[in-house]
Amino acid sequence: MTQELEALLELDRHDKAIREQARKIEGLKRRRQALLDAIAREQSEFLAKKRAFEELQRHSREKSREVDDLDAQIRADTEKLRTGLLSYKEMEALRIRVEHARARIDQLEDEALALITQVEEQAPLIRKAEQDFLAWKAKIEHDIAQIDAEITGHIAELERLQGERPLRTAVVEPKLLHRYEELRARYEDPVVPITHGICSGCNLRVSEITTERVRAEIVTCENCSRLLYVK
Ligand SMILES: [Zn+2]
Repeated sequence: MTQELEALLELDRHDKAIREQARKIEGLKRRRQALLDAIAREQSEFLAKKRAFEELQRHSREKSREVDDLDAQIRADTEKLRTGLLSYKEMEALRIRVEHARARIDQLEDEALALITQVEEQAPLIRKAEQDFLAWKAKIEHDIAQIDAEITGHIAELERLQGERPLRTAVVEPKLLHRYEELRARYEDPVVPITHGICSGCNLRVSEITTERVRAEIVTCENCSRLLYVK
């Protein structure tokens, strides 16, 4: 293998390593974002449950207050009826009101009790859901911290490789380097081996002249323009 080819392949390997680091960083960033999205999703689901429960609690308190208010009204009315300092007409109206209130309070009490039962049943479930969510979230946040550490490591490696790249390009013949850089913008594999007369970049057969010349020098594939060499 000529020194020229060796230098070119070394640069190509170096660039592949750079791309690999960049790909890893991208992949990790995508995973990181997916985890953040999952946290946001779970959090909003949990908060929706919690809000529904708080709504139930509020409803339950209101219903109990309604019972208390009606009970107080019945007591007050009954007391007024007992003292009897009212006109007959007023007494009649009051008596009817008390009757209605008594009929209503039984139903209200049932409703209030049903709501209290619901709150009592759901309270431990909500507490459990909150504990589960927080434990899960802590685990995911731990994973994210790990990913961040990995990303930092890959960024350091990427920067090291990028810093070293000029050492690799410096030993490649300038014209060849220029061709390589142009091809690199188009292909992930600008330099490929030729096997049995076939360019392993485009998988097409190259001419016999090319197959012959490639033994002595770096040539170009007439189909895809990649740089060819023999192993
Ligand atoms: Zn080709």
